[in-house]
Amino acid sequence: MLFVETRGNDASFPKQVKFSDAILAPIASFGGIYSPETMPKFGPTFLQDHLNQSYKSLTLSILNLFEVDIDAQTLQEALALYDRFDDPTNPVPLVNVGDNVYVSELFHGPTRAFKDMALQPFGYILASLAKQRQQQYLILAATSGDTGPAALETFKNCENIQVVCLYPEGGTSDVQRLQMVTESAPNLKVIGIKGDFDDAQAALKYLLASPTFKQQLNKLNVSVSAANSVNFGRIIFQIMYHIHSYLELVRKNVIELGDRVYLNIPSGNFGNALGAYYARKMGLPIERVIVSSNVNNVLTELINTGKYDISEKSLVKTTSPAMDILKSSNVERILFDLFGSLRTHELMRQLDEQRFYQLEPEELATLKQIFIADFCTDEQSNQFIQKHYAKGYLMDPHTATCFKVYDDPLLSTLPSIVYSTAEWTKFSSLIDQAITGQSGRSDREALESISTAANIGIPAVIQALFDKPVCHSLVIDKHLIEDEILRFMNEQT
Ligand SMILES: *Cc1c(COP(=O)(O)O)cnc(C)c1O
Repeated sequence: MLFVETRGNDASFPKQVKFSDAILAPIASFGGIYSPETMPKFGPTFLQDHLNQSYKSLTLSILNLFEVDIDAQTLQEALALYDRFDDPTNPVPLVNVGDNVYVSELFHGPTRAFKDMALQPFGYILASLAKQRQQQYLILAATSGDTGPAALETFKNCENIQVVCLYPEGGTSDVQRLQMVTESAPNLKVIGIKGDFDDAQAALKYLLASPTFKQQLNKLNVSVSAANSVNFGRIIFQIMYHIHSYLELVRKNVIELGDRVYLNIPSGNFGNALGAYYARKMGLPIERVIVSSNVNNVLTELINTGKYDISEKSLVKTTSPAMDILKSSNVERILFDLFGSLRTHELMRQLDEQRFYQLEPEELATLKQIFIADFCTDEQSNQFIQKHYAKGYLMDPHTATCFKVYDDPLLSTLPSIVYSTAEWTKFSSLIDQAITGQSGRSDREALESISTAANIGIPAVIQALFDKPVCHSLVIDKHLIEDEILRFMNEQT
């Protein structure tokens, strides 16, 4: 199984690459990214065969279907990292919250957000490849608050790897910031930038594609890669939990194998929803993938009207900051898979140059056969948090955006799996406000407040953050990022 470029080939890159090469060098011709050339299919007995198997063996089977060129031992060691999750026998529990809606909790890993699902095994594989090839890698990560901690956690103290993590100053919760700025290891650098997440992501994409930046690193014998979901190595690990959650519904006798369900996904960069799209294409019986957004509703507009228009839009800060995004990177892989590289190249160029594109009516119709989209305001999201808290379930503001679509009674005719992407501890101040009406509490106070009110413990890894020394205090202008990174790399080598 090979990987090809979403925007076609400009003759300076290979036309097809293996999995290992796609994850080591994720940016392709014309600023495109890598996608599978063809999608593997489950085969008639796949779901049945995996009904009573572990999360790890399901994961291994999917990796095998994609023919990843990673040796068996490395894969086994990478998947053993799921043993660090709260319940090693079931890293992704499924909880019924009433009304035919089931929450798939993706946040039981070491940094308490869904980014661990992929970054734990992906980080291990990338670091192993770097060691095997005796090559030094700089891993760049742009974060709105969850990718950063997860990337630092997975790569800290890895040989042959340096990590630079860019986060928007003031754009994260206290807990998220502390998870990054207190993470001490010689191979890590955390930089706050004056700007929002789109600025951080744009800086990252620019550097990944910049020949002069690469030249400077080459002089130090360093290659560059990315830990964001532009990297297919992230995406592949976001396919399994959709299949796992479906099988959980079967195991709980809610559905029978073959019955259709909705998957409902709080979306930002569209990696999670893309994983669902791939699972559906491989043969998982998904009626529609529901794409939930906050008021930065570019994805809702795209899926309902075929228009991707950010020409007049600017980013709005919401209570679900991981979804505050205008340019959603993984939409590109959907366009590529449905409409091919020529069309994708054309559309992405329009988006870069005019901040706008419009799909053809047939293209839109195709999209609507797969996706449903809606968006949720902060006020509505608060109401969903309150409503479910009153019924005994505590959810974070990203997860809460998924409940808006159920205003439409049609959707309740089939079971839904809603993905919970963060534990309450990562957004405690916002949740505290939603359930107690008290605003302005620090995370530390809010964690205590919720813990007392809901009678749940604060995980030790979160509690410990407040007493750890800060070791990264740098906050800079975005035009200084490149120099700062090169200075760090010069010190490292
Ligand atoms: C990253 C993230 C999202 C968005 O996921 P995408 O795969 O980028 O769409 C949603 N919620 C939380 C809490 C996240 O950390």
